[in-house]
Amino acid sequence: MALIVQKFGGSSVADADRIRNCAQRIVASKRAGNQVVVVVSARGDKTDELIELARAITANPPPREMDMLLATGEQESVALMAMAVQELGEPAISLTGYQIGILTDSTFTKARIRKISVERMRTALADGNIVIAAGFQGIDEDFNITTLGRGGSDTTATALAAVLEADVCEIYTDVEGIFTTDPRLVKAARKITRISYDEMLELTSLGGGKMHSRSIEFAKKYRVPLLVRPAYTAGDGTLIAPQLDEHAPVVSSVALVKSEAIVNLRELPDRPGVLAAVFTKMAERKIPIDMVIQDIAENSVASVSFTVPQDDLADALTAAEEAVKSLGAGRVQHGTNVSKVSVVGSGMRTHTGVAAQMFHSLSQAGVNMTMITTSEIKISALVNRDQSQIALNAVHDGFALEKDTATAPSVGYAQRVEESHPRMPRADLERDVVSRLASMEDIVVSDVHLDEQQARVTIRRVQDRPGIAAEVFTAVAEGGVMVDMIVQNVGHDELTDLSFTVPRVDLERCLLLVRELISDWPGATLSYDGEMALLTVMGIGLRSHTGVGERMFRALSDAGVNVQLVNTSEIRFGVVVARTDAAKAHQALLAAFGLQA
Ligand code: ASP
Ligand code: MG
Repeated sequence: MALIVQKFGGSSVADADRIRNCAQRIVASKRAGNQVVVVVSARGDKTDELIELARAITANPPPREMDMLLATGEQESVALMAMAVQELGEPAISLTGYQIGILTDSTFTKARIRKISVERMRTALADGNIVIAAGFQGIDEDFNITTLGRGGSDTTATALAAVLEADVCEIYTDVEGIFTTDPRLVKAARKITRISYDEMLELTSLGGGKMHSRSIEFAKKYRVPLLVRPAYTAGDGTLIAPQLDEHAPVVSSVALVKSEAIVNLRELPDRPGVLAAVFTKMAERKIPIDMVIQDIAENSVASVSFTVPQDDLADALTAAEEAVKSLGAGRVQHGTNVSKVSVVGSGMRTHTGVAAQMFHSLSQAGVNMTMITTSEIKISALVNRDQSQIALNAVHDGFALEKDTATAPSVGYAQRVEESHPRMPRADLERDVVSRLASMEDIVVSDVHLDEQQARVTIRRVQDRPGIAAEVFTAVAEGGVMVDMIVQNVGHDELTDLSFTVPRVDLERCLLLVRELISDWPGATLSYDGEMALLTVMGIGLRSHTGVGERMFRALSDAGVNVQLVNTSEIRFGVVVARTDAAKAHQALLAAFGLQA
């Protein structure tokens, strides 16, 4: 018998009809032979209404009374839901956070879970009941009612699914699931059946789904499969789960961020501390930086570029000017009207031709890429905004995402197979879940990974036109070389530089391939360094916490480490340093984020 946790958000339980509709689903799941735990939110806009009501009475509602008030929203929902289920002839019991035994600290309105008791829920399930649990709430040591912060029902649902070791946690929403791209932009967009946690995390801030990144990261940690399903139709939704190796498509989806602007700091000194200075200025103004790139310095001058939402450009330029002033060197330039096209897919870890395929599709469509950045499972390119729709279509078509059979890129090879991780032993589970929950909002950086086996290849002065990157990465992919990190900074005078890293063992082979390719490119030069290390700083707080870049580059600069290449994605920063600096850089970063063993 499987155990299913089902979470229904506020709009799914807004009125009696909708509650009855949910109850039917719940009962159907039970009758299909499952044990069911349901987590519900407050009805419709109830929570907002209650907040408004409190404000009408006092400008400063006491937090304890606020939680007493807000928790009633979920209490109302569980009672009504239990009635609706019973009406359909199935036994059900509603439980508040208190009755379940969700113990929290006393930080009213944003309490942290300290302990979850499973006994009462297990007993109720064993007696044949459907358990209807109130989301968003708990109780502190003195029996005060607490709440977990807005949107907290997702937290309750994933936490219960983790401690109960549920087979799946179903999240009912108002979307059909996760799509290969925004169906409003591309007609051929298709709903994805299954996507990995990491792919989903790379997509969330792109509006790829409605779930909170924190809940996805949490589910990933405990390997709780999340099924995002529509509440109002019979659609079977999208499963967010550990990666499936063999049959997983190489690429899952393509995303577009329309309104970005580029800030480029040129002629910066090439020494430790420069990036720290830049990021400090950005953090002071809380500018949400997106794609960050630093290319390899030439003649001791470095160039750093990043993108910001178009609306933040003016602020970002002021901050950049301040940074240049404080460094005593550099020039600030900017570019507007660019969009970011990103391809996300776990298969990039194992297939050499993904970048080549993406660049090829763009070049066939006549689209030039202004900047390129990559992570293990994502490649992003900046394109002119007036070509963004063409670019999106070209890439969606190029990977044949409209078909539901996995299509591999037309170039390159599949290599390396992922190993799978076992589930955690039961005895450690609850303690671990709870300690993880307690620090859930604090964890900005979750891991710093070091790969000392890297080599860097840089091709300078290539023409800044469609097709060049495609040629380079096609040659490399067909030679069976796995590229780890790609960096292309904004070009100047119709020329640009392209840097990437490959495993050291593949360097010789890669150089042969590239040398042959560029031999008839006038002016292009090749340089490389076989002794490099790649540091990857991972975490879902990178985007929401503008200070992460600052802290990270400050730590590296304090340790005297010169950064050679930088790139970013939604959930990681990649930094390339000399191999001789690797150990101290790794140490400095672990210390900066409190991650020492
Ligand atoms: N009712 C709470 C809120 O609106 C919790 C939730 O919906 O998840 O934030
Ligand atoms: Mg709500």
